[in-house]
Amino acid sequence: MVNGVKKLTLRKVSIKILFSQLLPESMKNLKMVDLNGQYKKIKPEIDRALQQVIDSSAFIKGPQVKEFQENLASYLNVKHVIGCANGTDALQIALMALDLKENDEVITPDFSFIATAEVISLLKLKPVFVDVDPSTFTIHPDNVRKAITANTKAILPVHLFGLCADMKELLSIAEEHDLFVIEDNAQSLGATYNKGNISGKAGTIGNIGCTSFFPSKVLGCFGDGGALMTNDDLLAEKLSSIANHGAKIKYYNDEIGINSRLDTIQAAILNVKLKYLNQYIEARQKAADYYSTRLGKLNEIEIPVTPEYSNHIFHQYTIKYKGNRNALKEYLSESGIPTMIYYPVPIHAQKAFQTTGNFPVSEKLTETVLSLPIHTEMTIDQLSYVCNKIETFLNN
Ligand SMILES: *Cc1c(COP(=O)(O)O)cnc(C)c1O
Repeated sequence: MVNGVKKLTLRKVSIKILFSQLLPESMKNLKMVDLNGQYKKIKPEIDRALQQVIDSSAFIKGPQVKEFQENLASYLNVKHVIGCANGTDALQIALMALDLKENDEVITPDFSFIATAEVISLLKLKPVFVDVDPSTFTIHPDNVRKAITANTKAILPVHLFGLCADMKELLSIAEEHDLFVIEDNAQSLGATYNKGNISGKAGTIGNIGCTSFFPSKVLGCFGDGGALMTNDDLLAEKLSSIANHGAKIKYYNDEIGINSRLDTIQAAILNVKLKYLNQYIEARQKAADYYSTRLGKLNEIEIPVTPEYSNHIFHQYTIKYKGNRNALKEYLSESGIPTMIYYPVPIHAQKAFQTTGNFPVSEKLTETVLSLPIHTEMTIDQLSYVCNKIETFLNN
């Protein structure tokens, strides 16, 4: 029996190998993101920046960190940018700066990456999950309104997949109920929001914005990195202090903080890559346009929506397919096309939380979404190959 199982697995593996040999040469490298291809195009600049840091040995708080914070602030048109170790830390530092007390409630979307909810619980605050908008995947303002109680202190929207949550609506709810708004902008750095009298870059509209430079994000470094942004001078001071052991002056600790720094090496890389951010965004948008033109013709597939109030920078290109999504994923995988399910479980249903509630949209999304490969280096041949394979699957 054991042998039989082994043989079966072996056969499956060899079929896969055979299949990959049949793949067109240019399709063998289809990846969700192509970090190496992106690096090669700016290799001399990056290598020089890295060597400078190594030669100077200023690995912690070197001049490149301050320089990057200033460059990003000017790109985003925000007063303060404070580097930190990663996006999850940024969220934690932001929440710590609000001086909330145990069991204060923070409203956040049910459909997202876990980090957002996780830091709320970690700080002994209470995450209140609300359902999202089925077309934009972002937190639905009507649901936020319904979730407000006397204990609500903050709203933590996520700008998911490359577009902004509806900030004007969220800000007006926040104003009405005297709440903080913390933006999780790990996926949409560079996106622009514009509705009525509220406009600006994602992450600069609420009280504090948080972002991540995880390698696969739209602006990624070569390891972990993150940043906070705010237009509020007092909050900026507090955020820097919390990220630095609660100290404004070294060895004089005013409050309990954490140790969360953006490495000089990462800042040096980000300084180079920030110059290309607009180009990277354009490349992603071009790839998305191609997908949407082709896949938009297929009745069975719902392509991503760009709302009027935000542009879309396509950190992910996420389609919805109400048929057998897992069969489509498997078929694409056998054709050498990687895809990802962002996200397979609604946050309220994660083992770590296990709360109950009414989340029909979020639940439906976890069963129907599929993110296709999208990155700055994708070729028309690759995009066309992915679309051909989806068409073939649907026609069978
Ligand atoms: C990536 C991500 C984070 C966390 O960023 P890290 O740098 O990996 O800690 C938080 N929120 C969202 C929505 C993310 O996509």
